[in-house]
Parts: sequence; structure tokens; C-alpha cells
Amino acid sequence: MNYQNTLSFAKELDTQDTLAKYRNEFFIPKNKEGKELIYFCGNSLGLQPKRVKEKIDQELLDWASLGVEAHFHGKNPWFSYHHFLTKESANLVGAKESEVVVMNSLSVNLNLLMISFYRPSAKRNKILIEGGAFPSDYYAVEQQIKLHGYNPEHSLVEMLPREGEYTLRTEDILAKIKELEDELALVMFGGVNYFTGQFFDLEAITKAGHSVGAQVGFDLAHTAGNIPLKLHEWNVDFATWCSYKYLNSGPGGTSGVFVHERHGNNPNLPRLAGWWGNDEKTRFKMQKGFVPQVGAGGWQMSNAQIFPMAIHKASIELFDEAGIENLRKKSLLLTGFLEYLIEEANKENDLGFKIITPKNETERGCQLSLMTGTNGKQLFEKLTTNDVIADWREPNEAFGMGGVIRVAPTPMYNTFEEVYRFVQILKS
Ligand SMILES: *Cc1c(COP(=O)(O)O)cnc(C)c1O
Repeated sequence: MNYQNTLSFAKELDTQDTLAKYRNEFFIPKNKEGKELIYFCGNSLGLQPKRVKEKIDQELLDWASLGVEAHFHGKNPWFSYHHFLTKESANLVGAKESEVVVMNSLSVNLNLLMISFYRPSAKRNKILIEGGAFPSDYYAVEQQIKLHGYNPEHSLVEMLPREGEYTLRTEDILAKIKELEDELALVMFGGVNYFTGQFFDLEAITKAGHSVGAQVGFDLAHTAGNIPLKLHEWNVDFATWCSYKYLNSGPGGTSGVFVHERHGNNPNLPRLAGWWGNDEKTRFKMQKGFVPQVGAGGWQMSNAQIFPMAIHKASIELFDEAGIENLRKKSLLLTGFLEYLIEEANKENDLGFKIITPKNETERGCQLSLMTGTNGKQLFEKLTTNDVIADWREPNEAFGMGGVIRVAPTPMYNTFEEVYRFVQILKS
């Protein structure tokens, strides 16, 4: 696309945008004067879909009028509620319906999945993680290693960028996997790194991991709803994601899980258990002896959390309607336009914002991470007082990085005009 640095060009792109109508499906936060904020923080907490209220009200009504009977006789029987999220979840991540389930929240699921997929031995006990991973992921892998009696200093391997670089090269990741070889038990990477916005080549990483006999799982917190995925086809062993970032399902929202069918069909795979993962036909017989459901559902423990799931339902229905491939097309343009305008602004008058997110659009999603100089925090605060909601991350010393402003225009509700106005504010 040949972008132009004008407001009228931005408006023209909005006119041509076939997804523009979805903005009206969301509540857009406003400033004190009632003017809509530029909300570029959907990578952190997505906005509220207007349809949420109706979905919640339905469950409140059934609870009020039916009580416990709503488990089987509600409009959307609670016994089966998580099943009502399966089709849309599977479409979102490129999975078979039996390979996904919605349950718990993200860090909990990451731990549950590692119980099954991190099975270290004296020789093979290493976990490879991307350097600068989200703290929750670090904590989880560290503790899993300790849980098995190994030492994270030995067993936790961090993949760091080359000297002077901010993101990882696929060739280096693959070489590292080869190098660790029969000592590597698990590759546990973010799909998109939360800090740099880098999207990794999940297919290549999975293939490389399998070629040395390791398991491969991904934390898709910043990937689900951002980039189309083919988890089944790529042969990924397991994955989990949260629902409140790009997926707009509310603070502390529920989480999705993917378990490849070759594992989901294996009842002998060690796992933690609770009654909701038991075969549904015998669940209410209250018998001893856990019989796991076939598929990802066999990792459930507790009964479905109806209210977070009702919110999630409202949101993923929108994703299914809009189509993740269509959203991605718009997203590439939105983020490409943002990058173009920042580069133009840097040419006019060096703003000192270095984009550390990969330039290659196949290696990123919505988000651009702008590394700032010494006045980064002040600049970020200026943006906030000028009606921009973005996100500030303190300098990452391990990487020799300055503070980073993360901006994520999302195709579901952001506009090209907002991108244009954002860069005008940045310039001023
Ligand atoms: C947002 C995020 C989390 C948060 O985990 P919760 O359990 O939902 O609080 C974990 N990991 C990554 C990579 C994230 O981006």
C-alpha cells in the first residue's frame, strides 16, 4: 500500500473499511468533555462489547427464575455452557472443536498444561523460553522446574537477541533448539512477545522442537484475536490464551486452551483432575475413578464460570462474524499506516522514537513498541493528557532497552483517522 501522510487519506481508508461497522459494537471510553479517547490499548485490556450486557442479563435472569434448575433448563444450560464457546474458539486459533476448551484463567492453565507436557528426566529437563517473556510465564516455568526437583539455573534456558538487536531471529531460535537437542524437554514461548510485539514463527519452532524430541507449547495471550493461527496444522502440542486482551472479554476474563488431538485422545497422559474433566455421561453419577473426556475438555477441573464465559461469548461471536482473516487484513493496513506515519514524522524532525517491533509484517501483529529516550515517561504522560490511551513499560535492563510505549491499534474498533490523529499528537 502506498500510504499518504494526510487526514483525507486516513478518512478515505476508513470509508473503504468493510469492518468499520464493528466500532459501533463497542463502548469507546471518553474524556471529561465527552470526547472519545484514542484507545490503543486493546493489547492490554480490550474494550467492552455492547452485546455483553444482554448475555449477562440472560444468565442473571435464568439464575433468578430457575435457580439450580438452570444447569439443565436454562436458555443456555450451564452444564454445557463451555460448549457454546467451542466453535468460535476453534475458528480463532485454527483447531478442531475437540482440541479447544475455555476454562480458568491463563496462568492457571499454563501451569495445568505443563503438568502434562513438561515431563523432565535426568537427561532431558530443559525448558526454552523467549528472553524478556512475561513475568507470569517465567514464574510458571521456574516453579515447574523446581516442582520436579531440578534447578532453574540449569534447566531454564532463555533465548536472548543478538548483541545490539531487540528481537529474535528465527534461525537463531531453531539453532538453539538443535543445540539443546536431547536435553530439551519443552519449548514454551509467547506467540507474540508482549514487550517487543514480535510474532514468532510458531510452525517452524514446533517443527524444530519435535525434531529433537521436545514438546512445544505457546502462550498466546498477545496472539489470540490478533493474528490468525493454525495450531492443529502446525502440530503444536498445547497452547493457552487469555480473553481480556485482543479478545475483549473483560478484566480477569476466562482463558482458552488448545491440546492437540494426538494428546487429547490419550487418556493416560498425566494430568491434574476435577469433575468437569470427567466423561460427561458419568459426571453426575459421582463415582470414583477419573475417566477423562476425550479432547481438551479432559483438562477441565471446576464447573464452568458462567459470567466470564457469557462475556466471552458476546465477544467471540463478534470475531466469528467479522472473521479473523478479515481482521488481520485490516490490521496489517492499520499498523502499516501507523509505522509509515511515525517514520515520516521521524524524517521531518527526529522524534526519537525507535520502533523495535519487527518491520516485516509477518513477524508482528497490531502492536508497535516505540523505544523512547530519557524523557520517555514524560512523553507517555503527555500522550495520556492528550486523550491517548497507550501503555508504558519500564526500561528492560537485561536487553539494554529504554522505556517502551506500546501502541496497538486493533482492527475491531480502531480507525485510520485515529492512527493519523495519534501521530499528530505524538509530533506536537
Ligand atoms: C497478559 C499475560 C498474562 C497474564 O496472565 P493471567 O493469568 O491472565 O493474569 C500471562 N502471560 C502473558 C504472556 C501475558 O501477556
